[in-house]
Amino acid sequence: MTDLTSLTLAEARKGLADKTFTSLELTDAHLSAIEAARVLNAFVMETPDQARAMAREADNKIAKGDAGPLAGIPLGIKDLFATKGVRTTACSKILGNFVPTYESTVTSQLWRDGAVMLGKLNNDEFAMGSANETSCFGPVGNPWRREGSNTTLVPGGSSGGSASAVAALLCMGATATDTGGSIRQPAAFTATVGIKPTYGRCSRWGIVAFASSLDQAGPIARSVRDSAMLLRSMAGHDPKDTTSVDIPVPDYEAAIGKSVKGMKIGIPKEYRLDGMPAEIEKLWEAGAAWLRSAGAELVEVSLPHTKYALPAYYIVAPAEASSNLARYDGVRYGLREQGRNIIELYENTRAEGFGAEVRRRVMIGTYVLSAGYYDAYYLRAQKVRTLIKKDFEDCFAKGVDAILTPATPSAAFGIGEKGGADPVEMYLNDIFTVTVNMAGLPGIAVPAGKDAQGLPLGLQLIGRPFEEETLFSLGEVIEQAAGRFTPARWW
Ligand code: GLN
Repeated sequence: MTDLTSLTLAEARKGLADKTFTSLELTDAHLSAIEAARVLNAFVMETPDQARAMAREADNKIAKGDAGPLAGIPLGIKDLFATKGVRTTACSKILGNFVPTYESTVTSQLWRDGAVMLGKLNNDEFAMGSANETSCFGPVGNPWRREGSNTTLVPGGSSGGSASAVAALLCMGATATDTGGSIRQPAAFTATVGIKPTYGRCSRWGIVAFASSLDQAGPIARSVRDSAMLLRSMAGHDPKDTTSVDIPVPDYEAAIGKSVKGMKIGIPKEYRLDGMPAEIEKLWEAGAAWLRSAGAELVEVSLPHTKYALPAYYIVAPAEASSNLARYDGVRYGLREQGRNIIELYENTRAEGFGAEVRRRVMIGTYVLSAGYYDAYYLRAQKVRTLIKKDFEDCFAKGVDAILTPATPSAAFGIGEKGGADPVEMYLNDIFTVTVNMAGLPGIAVPAGKDAQGLPLGLQLIGRPFEEETLFSLGEVIEQAAGRFTPARWW
């Protein structure tokens, strides 16, 4: 039998349906892989007993012929999703050993459809970061290395554990969240597929909030088809999240292999940055050529407010974060550091419980929201946000079906290599992805090639609201042309 961990989710679904192997075998294969890959630090909590129990239940259902669409498929869950009875920390010390008494809507839909939980995945603390270096559990290793080097690289962030685990074949897919790029950037750094759906497509209920007007859940998977299968289970209206949208969830998988002939694809000239590595430029051109030969029409488009997106994001996101994180006060959740009075208890708990990046965001956020600065920063950033959204709307109004851009301005870098002296250096990772969150649009990152050092690079496709299907069809064209990439095992 081939190694069960190397199958795609779609292949595993077939093997399970044909009774070639059981979910218990598939689950055990992944549990062993996780054990052998602890050096990657992708999982912060392994739940083998729960996984085997869920796998047995799935096997029973498969035997009885009433299996759900993800029956028996082992998945990893980003530690930002509340999981009933299983420690959930957002990889922050401040949550301590918080064990939720409830399950997030997204994960409960995955379990409803028969998926198996292998454990909780590492991420940047409260999803703030682009390298998974701010986690209280320490950094995550990228299974990819530069050719001829044994330097450990970052898997991107904030969903670094999700991307690393999927790329290293530790789970068949993973949940992730994306506020400014946290699904797409780690996917690009690890040669996995990540889709951030339209804002409102997945319920945010039970996901630790970072910036509520930007946060969206989505999958990281091994192929475009796998990501379509996962999103179908994750998406849907939820009365418990008033921003979730009540429109039916299509069968995303049906979009795979659909012709893209006649589709109009925009190439935004503002994304051609000064000093962009030639390899990224080349990859972008290759992507355009693949889509053109599949029958799409490539057109140059303009998104004139692009250059303001990153600064505006780093006002809006910290502002919302400072408000969302006010609840971690040492009284109701997790960590408590005593003080002589309640104010001191708050101060001591927050000083001890939050890491440096989170403290920075809380300070920026409270500053831009404070009287006197609100109009100059927060209000202005909101106006810029409206203009960014309008740029995209104007583009779509001209008949553009999707926009093609690079996913990241570089390939993965070494742990500790970026952002040490200047946090903005780290923020620049999000240059191509934040615009999409600011506009609430769907975006997919698909592996498209490698750089001269053998590291994966990804392309991003941005779609119209609730037209994820277009992204799956186009993403599949890129995947077919570029092929799929697996890292050489060193761990
Ligand atoms: N890197 C971005 C940030 O740190 C985005 C993070 C995310 O999408 N969660 O804010």
